[in-house]
Amino acid sequence: MMIPSVRGTRDILPGEVERWAFVEATARRVFEQYGYFEIRTPIIEREELFSKGTGETTDIVQKEMYAFTDKGGERITLRPEATPSMVRAFVEHALEQAMAVPKLYAIGPMFRYERPQKGRYRQFHQLDVEVFGIADASVDAEVIDLAWSLVSALGISGVDLAINSVGCAACRPAFSAALVAALGDDVGKLCADCQRRAVTNPLRIFDCKVPGDQAVIDALPHSVDYLCGECRQHFDAVRASLDLYRIPYTVSHRLVRGLDYYTRTTFEILSGQIGAQNAILGGGRYDGLVKQLGGPDRVGIGFAAGIERLVLALPEELAVSAPRPDVFVAALGEAARFSSFELLRDLRRAGLNAQIEYEGRSLKSQMKRADRLKAPLVFVLGEDELARGEIGVKHMATSTQESIPRAEAVAYVLRTVGGKR
Ligand code: AMP
Repeated sequence: MMIPSVRGTRDILPGEVERWAFVEATARRVFEQYGYFEIRTPIIEREELFSKGTGETTDIVQKEMYAFTDKGGERITLRPEATPSMVRAFVEHALEQAMAVPKLYAIGPMFRYERPQKGRYRQFHQLDVEVFGIADASVDAEVIDLAWSLVSALGISGVDLAINSVGCAACRPAFSAALVAALGDDVGKLCADCQRRAVTNPLRIFDCKVPGDQAVIDALPHSVDYLCGECRQHFDAVRASLDLYRIPYTVSHRLVRGLDYYTRTTFEILSGQIGAQNAILGGGRYDGLVKQLGGPDRVGIGFAAGIERLVLALPEELAVSAPRPDVFVAALGEAARFSSFELLRDLRRAGLNAQIEYEGRSLKSQMKRADRLKAPLVFVLGEDELARGEIGVKHMATSTQESIPRAEAVAYVLRTVGGKR
């Protein structure tokens, strides 16, 4: 019996994978343009990195981690998000000293045991960027501008930027208390998760998706009304910079995001075109996280974009090409077949994409294969051509044919495809 793939995971097949490659290449280009350097961190980490980093009271840590005890008795997890790993690497390798500006990006798979649906998977892939050590609001605006540039470089339209400020360690307790006070007796009307959140971490109530809870949640106080002077100033400065960049946004009071470490700025870019899972990227500032994870007292800010959702949001008409041969070599007869492998070698050594039919079938089936591979040129090598030191050339688009000397084969293809590469 065939063994199927694991629920919530997907094969990205030829045909779709080119769209992924386009997203990744565009992201690299834009990130590097903004001064970010790539980093690759492991897929497995110690479980406590996320229970301490992402937060004990978050859904990710409480319900969604692929955590296990390894053969040495260590608690290990597949990473559910990138930020704690990036912070760990920043601290572990003292990147503050090693890099002129610690601006990092990473691309890779994340794992969460969620209920799969369109745009939501158990293995999904993120583009992640993080900047460490800069507290000024101009960097918040630059990170949001980077996210905006990425989306527009991908040709994605119909998106909205939402921003909020969730305050800092100084002003958040008052906001939390205000939430609990405003909830009052309504707590009893909320779902079991929210009743738990009201005790452990009232801000998390904003993550609730249960339809029956929404009326109560919509009436709750707004974090921006509880900001201390410094957080208020910071938020105003971020907004002023976004205006300067001419990036349109709305302030969304419900945007507290599902992770514990956020401070001050949070933001998301939402798409109206990809269904219910409409957040294509999200991020924010996390000023206490580096210290909390055992590092120096350094601030940080970043965002993560879901590659699956970016691919879904790409314009339908985007032309991304799969690799295709520059030339197909067809051979007839044993001697010609032998010689055709030498020709193939010469073509490939010259950097060309050259393909062949391995099993010596009829010319007709070789031409059919060339056609399916979308080769623009076919070289035909038969006994006659071999004897004359020539090659027959067929241009597939026009069906025109000619003969050329074998010695000129490589130069001929280079000349023909040269302008198209
Ligand atoms: P988060 O790390 O939860 O802030 O998510 C950042 C981005 O990752 C989201 O905006 C989504 O684009 C993407 N994402 C998060 N969870 C999933 C998932 N289960 N499946 C696909 N994409 C996801």
